[in-house]
Amino acid sequence: MQQYDAIVIGARCAGSPAAMLLARRGYKVLVVDHASFPSDTLSTHIIQPLGVAALKRWGLLDRVVATGCPAIRQYVYDFGPVTIAGSPGTEESPVAYAPRRTVLDKILVDAAAEAGAEVREEFSVDELLFDGERVIGIRGRSKGGERVTERARVVIGADGRHSLVARAVSPEEYNARPPLQGGYYTYFSNLPVDGRFEIYIRPRCGFGVAPTNDGLTMVVAGWAIADYEEKKKDYAANYRKTLEAVPAFAERLRAAKQEERFRGGFTPNFFRKPYGAGWTLIGDAGYEKDPITAQGITDAFLAAERCAEALGEVFTGKRSFDEAMAGYQRDRDERAMPVYELTCQIAALQPPPPEMQQFLRSIEGNQPAMDQFARMNAGTTSNAGALTR
Ligand SMILES: Cc1cc2nc3c(=O)[nH]c(=O)nc-3n(C[C@H](O)[C@H](O)[C@H](O)COP(=O)(O)OP(=O)(O)OC[C@H]3O[C@@H](n4cnc5c(N)ncnc54)[C@H](O)[C@@H]3O)c2cc1C
Repeated sequence: MQQYDAIVIGARCAGSPAAMLLARRGYKVLVVDHASFPSDTLSTHIIQPLGVAALKRWGLLDRVVATGCPAIRQYVYDFGPVTIAGSPGTEESPVAYAPRRTVLDKILVDAAAEAGAEVREEFSVDELLFDGERVIGIRGRSKGGERVTERARVVIGADGRHSLVARAVSPEEYNARPPLQGGYYTYFSNLPVDGRFEIYIRPRCGFGVAPTNDGLTMVVAGWAIADYEEKKKDYAANYRKTLEAVPAFAERLRAAKQEERFRGGFTPNFFRKPYGAGWTLIGDAGYEKDPITAQGITDAFLAAERCAEALGEVFTGKRSFDEAMAGYQRDRDERAMPVYELTCQIAALQPPPPEMQQFLRSIEGNQPAMDQFARMNAGTTSNAGALTR
């Protein structure tokens, strides 16, 4: 007997929106997570304009804004000799935000519960339940250590890059690339950025600066993967050196105070086939990429939304599971692939090739072209051709 229409494993950027959207359609949903909320996770947290638009569609943007997290209106790419400053959004969705994950994920989990999804925090899924090849449920442990079995028509793996669901069903992996860069981030007070996401790109390294909650500024620095292990040996000093290599930023940093410990690492790059008998994958579990272009949260939102729509078609008998899920995979990949390629290129942290340097010089100061550049890097548009118009 099925107890739930859907069980969602993981309750952050992918899982909670999927649970919320399915529950809003009237389906019986269980969402579980190891974590309790609010809690942090290893991630910086720029939400691109398309992700902000999703929050608005879901009626959750006001909650994010109410936390005092500043809007980001401009992306500034400092390549050394050339600086490109553009607006990343569109008329309908003009800005980005970078709310702390403690703040964002709690808003998402609460919204899932308000929509009627049953949320179980501090619940660890140990294994999937199979009937032959078909996934029919989960086995796990609740907060008190009690062993629990639950069944559903579909199990949604929103369980991040080390996805237990993916390990259990071994989906096809494609377009995989090795890790390309690695780095560290922390937070500073007294380092105003005034509504900008600043990105400094230098040979074999770079750093990004964005405003977040509580008057703090997040600063993330990264190095090409070939240098990463060496830099990691004294990451705090190397982080500081990377930032101070830009004199104007070093000057600003002098007045700032580091408020939190460093966190960091590197990220693999891959797509996974996101469905099979009785299961689907959303968010990082199905598509993981280097964070350098800050796409993960936005991708997780959009995959959750598209997957929930496809499951609605399945549950109402409008489409077969395979047909609906193939549509979800196609849409996910078509949207993600251009920005994935761009992300892998940027994450290599190589100096831009001469034609790119020439292009950047040619658009410096041309506001429509610089806006288009920012939109492309934000994943708002993948229309590279429009850059030259
Ligand atoms: C250093 C770094 C910086 C980043 N910066 C950005 C950025 O600026 N902007 C951006 O958009 N993205 C960024 N990302 C990517 C972003 O963090 C991810 O894409 C996003 O968190 C994916 O959301 P998710 O819900 O798929 O997975 P996750 O956020 O990883 O959530 C998965 C959840 O599943 C739970 N879980 C896993 N297994 C189980 C289990 N067996 N039982 C119960 N629960 C389980 C975990 O506890 C976790 O809460 C960054 C990533 C890193 C590593």
